[in-house]
Amino acid sequence: MKTVAVVGGGVIGLSVAWRLAARGCAVTVYDPDPGSGASHVAAGMLAPVGEAYFGETELVALMRESARRWPAFAAELTEQAGLDVGYRTDGTLLVARTDDDLAELNRLVRWQASLGLTPQPLRASELREREPRLVPRLRGGAFVADDRQVDPRLVVRALRSLVRVEARAVTDLSTVDGDVVVVAAGCASAALAGLPVRPVKGQLVRLRGPVALRAVIRGYLDGRTVYLVPRADGEVVVGATSEERLDGAVTAGAVLDLLRSAVELVPDLAEYELTETQAGFRPGTPDNAPIIGALRPGLVVATGHYRNGVLLAPVTADAVADLVTGGPDADLVKPFGPDRFGGRTG
Ligand SMILES: Cc1cc2nc3c(=O)[nH]c(=O)nc-3n(C[C@H](O)[C@H](O)[C@H](O)COP(=O)(O)OP(=O)(O)OC[C@H]3O[C@@H](n4cnc5c(N)ncnc54)[C@H](O)[C@@H]3O)c2cc1C
Repeated sequence: MKTVAVVGGGVIGLSVAWRLAARGCAVTVYDPDPGSGASHVAAGMLAPVGEAYFGETELVALMRESARRWPAFAAELTEQAGLDVGYRTDGTLLVARTDDDLAELNRLVRWQASLGLTPQPLRASELREREPRLVPRLRGGAFVADDRQVDPRLVVRALRSLVRVEARAVTDLSTVDGDVVVVAAGCASAALAGLPVRPVKGQLVRLRGPVALRAVIRGYLDGRTVYLVPRADGEVVVGATSEERLDGAVTAGAVLDLLRSAVELVPDLAEYELTETQAGFRPGTPDNAPIIGALRPGLVVATGHYRNGVLLAPVTADAVADLVTGGPDADLVKPFGPDRFGGRTG
């Protein structure tokens, strides 16, 4: 039986540990505070195209493959843990306020269509039929039925219940035992394994009210974008900023912008309780794609998932399990190996 040490217990490390344990490995996750990193902040959108930039073809393919695996991943996890993970299939409403916003939105819709997806263009009146609480003055939009969402905090809770965790920080990889060590420490992977991972700050707010929105809403408002991610219990996650900053402060300006955009889209949200303001760090890489592969024999890395770590968790976990125990899914991450940066380190 192989012993595996997973350093980092966010959504990536815990998913990897769960999948490796299912292959019969003896797995220990090392993390002083599992689930406290980016995974605690993430909105949980599983949007394989909405969250990718134009042209990131290989990354989009990986994201779509992971999205395809999410239903089975969520079902298995829910069943094994006996805990809900908030998996929802209500899709995303894209909405635009001005002609320029609509032009921007339509660029995304055309790109999605070119990838074989079928976003459905909607007039303002049709948008409001789908979500009556949207503001009346909108230029138009679209409905993306393929987008899904989960609650990352519930996913982490379920995964934690199924894997062995040792609550300690690892500062030197030689201090953990295992036939294989997997580094999945998010932004901290830079220092631990010398990888070009940098923190990209994201601020968001959480609101809570009596009625849940019907779908995720992504708004284009005078050149700004904002998303509203509803949970079944009336929570709405409003996000997010993207800042090349290292401080973890929640700023008045960011909260102001997020709340203003949210209320401009759905005026009723002004009456909701403001329950949380948060800043987290996305583990970003030079080409926005994750770093998954063997760094040397016995050392595998799975990090740099940037804006899509929740979405990419199933495919990452399956690929790492195959890298460690052998199997075809290892091929899926060949384009994302650590060697692609030519020895460049963080
Ligand atoms: C505002 C915001 C919104 C987001 N929204 C989405 C979204 O809607 N959909 C989506 O797919 N993604 C989203 N993301 C991205 C997603 O959160 C990340 O890609 C994902 O959480 C990365 O997971 P991870 O496990 O690699 O890292 P993390 O969740 O950061 O986990 C890393 C873990 O490593 C541990 N650790 C650190 N140092 C050590 C050490 N020395 N020893 C042991 N353990 C250590 C930490 O305690 C932590 O638990 C969002 C991110 C942000 C910031």
